[in-house]
Amino acid sequence: ENAPVITIDGPSGAGKGTVSTLLARKLGWHFLDSGAIYRVMAVAAMHHQIDADDEYGLVPLASNLDVVFESSEGHCKVVLEGEDVTDVIRTEEVGAVASKVAALPRVREALLRRQRAFRDAPGLIADGRDMGTVVFPNAITKVFLTASAEERARRRFEQLKAAGHDVTIDRLLADIRARDERDSNRAVAPLKPADDALVLDSTELSIEQVLEAIVTFHAEKQ
Ligand code: C5P
Repeated sequence: ENAPVITIDGPSGAGKGTVSTLLARKLGWHFLDSGAIYRVMAVAAMHHQIDADDEYGLVPLASNLDVVFESSEGHCKVVLEGEDVTDVIRTEEVGAVASKVAALPRVREALLRRQRAFRDAPGLIADGRDMGTVVFPNAITKVFLTASAEERARRRFEQLKAAGHDVTIDRLLADIRARDERDSNRAVAPLKPADDALVLDSTELSIEQVLEAIVTFHAEKQ
């Protein structure tokens, strides 16, 4: 496939999801939430009672992952083995398992083809950790979106509170730091900006400002 790709990589809570969704809507492009795939993998592992570090047990599951992303009217429903897991994949518990599963090279390898299949005309916005470095190295526009750990914990807190979850900022900050550490230091596809990425720190930027910076950068690439 030769459809153009814009990659948005960065740590959790930097605003990638919101920005990618808005950008996909604005351009009328497809959207890949690669984190959701790792989260679904985590739930599948839990269902099948396979340990998060059991690489050989997880590879067949990754290769045959029975997941469907059904999007309608801006909402995306995630169905794993016939079961609606849209809400459960967003929990902190699943996020923590996802980041362990994501550290396994053969699991990542097994999920590559599935992620690349999202590339389709008129274009794709790919949200993740290694979209610009590994999955779509020839993407036309690459962005690395980050923010301070404190600001990311604060944003996550607001999101979870609004969704009715009972969490504390301190707990979220500790989780975010642990996950950053794991994601940045793993041997395969560690969290780092591609050489040709626009690095954007969103700590003091609004969503509109982030979008504008990306759209301007993308226009220069055309
Ligand atoms: O972005 P999100 O928090 O949903 O991702 C969950 C986990 O999946 C991350 O902590 C990370 O370990 C992993 N992940 C990854 N590569 C991606 C997307 C997510 O390793 N492209």
